[in-house]
Amino acid sequence: MLFVISGPSGCGKSTLIKRVRRALCDLEFSVSHTTRPPRPSEKDGVDYHFVSARVFERMAREDRFLEHARVHGHLYGTSRAEVARKGRRSDVVLDIDVQGARQVRRRVPGAVLVFIMPPVAAELRRRLEKRSEDSPEAVARRLRNARAEVRAYGEFDFVVINDDLGRAAADLKTVITACRRRPSAMAGRLGPILRSFRKGRT
Ligand code: ADP
Ligand code: 5GP
Repeated sequence: MLFVISGPSGCGKSTLIKRVRRALCDLEFSVSHTTRPPRPSEKDGVDYHFVSARVFERMAREDRFLEHARVHGHLYGTSRAEVARKGRRSDVVLDIDVQGARQVRRRVPGAVLVFIMPPVAAELRRRLEKRSEDSPEAVARRLRNARAEVRAYGEFDFVVINDDLGRAAADLKTVITACRRRPSAMAGRLGPILRSFRKGRT
């Protein structure tokens, strides 16, 4: 199953994904490609695959992205190969923007889209400033873009308000666990149970 986590920059997507991945098994993170320069704390291949615009554009021409978009002035994309490799044995979680979420909705039937909503605009500003890894111009641009992004929440399957971190992480875990209990996602575990009910075995 593919889980898409979107929401304005600074709302807490990466923090929540890290927490939930520590608590749930079989949930791989898809590392995106981007042309944005790395932040001081970021590692190539872990947070992102940091690539040049030339490399990114070649990958786009070769249709190697499941989705891609220009966000806050940089290019970001989810490589098909990354999702295929990580999805072989696990569910996969994407941290992507609203434009990317719309592309996934069209291209991947059954993908689950979750919107992370900050509790209030002033808190989003505080979080972006507290993270203190983006320039004041980058923070201002992210806040401006947030105005349109928060209005897209209705296009998603679930909304989690990231007010208290513990509560929001618990909400996101609940969403993922509930989706994993759909009959279509249970086939692997139900097979042996159903076989045990075959005529002659009971
Ligand atoms: P995003 O991935 O959505 O851009 P981050 O996960 O990097 O956002 O979070 C932005 C900042 O807000 C980080 O400094 C993070 O520690 C902080 N943060 C995230 N969730 C909360 C929360 N519920 N309460 C307070 N601070 C939070
Ligand atoms: P940041 O620069 O703060 O890491 O990310 C900025 C925005 O780009 C966030 O909304 C994040 O979710 C989004 N993003 C990260 N990776 C991708 C991707 O592969 N595709 C798309 N469409 N957006 C992405």
